[in-house]
Amino acid sequence: MLAMQYRGPYRVRATQKPEPRIEHPNDAIVRVLRSCICGSDLHLYHGLVPDTRVGHTFGHEFVGVVEQVGPSVRSLQPGDHVLVPFNIFCGTCFFCQKELYSNCHNVNPEATAAGGIYGYSHTTGGYDGGQADFVRVPMADIGPLKIPADLTLDDAVLLTDACPTGYQAAEMGEIAEGDTVVVFGAGPVGLFAAKSAWLMGAGRVIVVDHVEYRLEFARQWVPCEIVNLKEVQDMAEHIKGMTDWLGADVCIDAVGAEAVGNMLQMLSGRYLKLQAGAATVLHWAINSARKGGNISIVGVYGPTGNMVPIGNVLNKGLTVRANQAAVKRHLPRLIEHIQAGRLKPSEIITHRFPLEDVSDAYHIFSSKLDNCIKPVLIPPAAREYERQLPAQSQVQSQTQMH
Ligand code: NAD
Ligand code: ZN
Ligand code: ZN
Repeated sequence: MLAMQYRGPYRVRATQKPEPRIEHPNDAIVRVLRSCICGSDLHLYHGLVPDTRVGHTFGHEFVGVVEQVGPSVRSLQPGDHVLVPFNIFCGTCFFCQKELYSNCHNVNPEATAAGGIYGYSHTTGGYDGGQADFVRVPMADIGPLKIPADLTLDDAVLLTDACPTGYQAAEMGEIAEGDTVVVFGAGPVGLFAAKSAWLMGAGRVIVVDHVEYRLEFARQWVPCEIVNLKEVQDMAEHIKGMTDWLGADVCIDAVGAEAVGNMLQMLSGRYLKLQAGAATVLHWAINSARKGGNISIVGVYGPTGNMVPIGNVLNKGLTVRANQAAVKRHLPRLIEHIQAGRLKPSEIITHRFPLEDVSDAYHIFSSKLDNCIKPVLIPPAAREYERQLPAQSQVQSQTQMH
């Protein structure tokens, strides 16, 4: 089959690789119909995630059609269209019972703090991802959700990560009616966090970035006030100036380890790797929040220590929450929002590439070229599926490239 494969930092290729097989009775094999590239994939692409092995296939945001199921799979059958949350989880352990699916205890043999994630290096279990023709889906009775008939594949693929992650970011901010919410990062996750802030009753939403086309998109799509960090000398003072000198009620970090905006942070975190990523946004969030405010972190950092102003967290009485999103928990509510017309996740998709062009797709998304916000990859197996089933008009109309 054709699959994206990692060759080393900034080098990814689409090449042939053996098709995955059922390895456990509860596995399914899914033919991928759509697969996105996520900001998290960029950390892998940039060589920042330990134990990212040559030959590994990335891709934790995918939807597809079930091709084959293991003998113990009860809830799926071949032909079902499924969306597959980026988390791999068992559904029964102590953490899964608390709906902390991203913290499942049974899926990551490396036993790092992270749970299991498709296509995200051996630190999250070493599972191959969905930027490929086919992918093995373990615990197939637990993770995948059959896509409701009235949901498009483009909306569904954004429900595998970016949209629920933004939603959880807003939820962890514990937004109260009328709150001022500042979202750092106008990538897909930040956009969904900002949109979700309105759904949760925010009174004011401010989005910070430095990429002008993303800010402009946020201003119109969220809609929200925007701040270009390049035009600001002191972020905390700027946000305080916008909020009666109190600070924001809720600050959301949707940037993580690769933040720009502070030379010392970038040098120590990104280049010398003395800390687990540039903690610029954590500083800004902590210092821009009002006393007693909330900080919500979904931007990804490495597992070791950061230079984080914990004293300010204490003195200001902040509440800090963070996690990888527990995608499955949010799906029923998000599907309701989509069906009611309050949310249309696919509106952020700007690019569609055949999987063969995966290397261009990573380059364009990583370098923020061509006004790229969210790229979707279409593997050859999806196009073949479309040819075999001309009646699948939805798939047909949506796999056209532009
Ligand atoms: P993205 O790379 O498309 O977006 C990140 C944005 O942050 C970019 O637009 C960039 O210009 C901006 N940025 C850089 N430095 C900044 C700064 N100092 N202040 C404000 N903005 C700044 O990525 P994405 O797909 O939106 O993901 C965002 C983050 O969320 C990444 O760290 C990703 O790994 C993480 N993530 C976490 C989860 C989770 O479950 N917790 C899930 C998905 C993604
Ligand atoms: Zn992701
Ligand atoms: Zn579990």
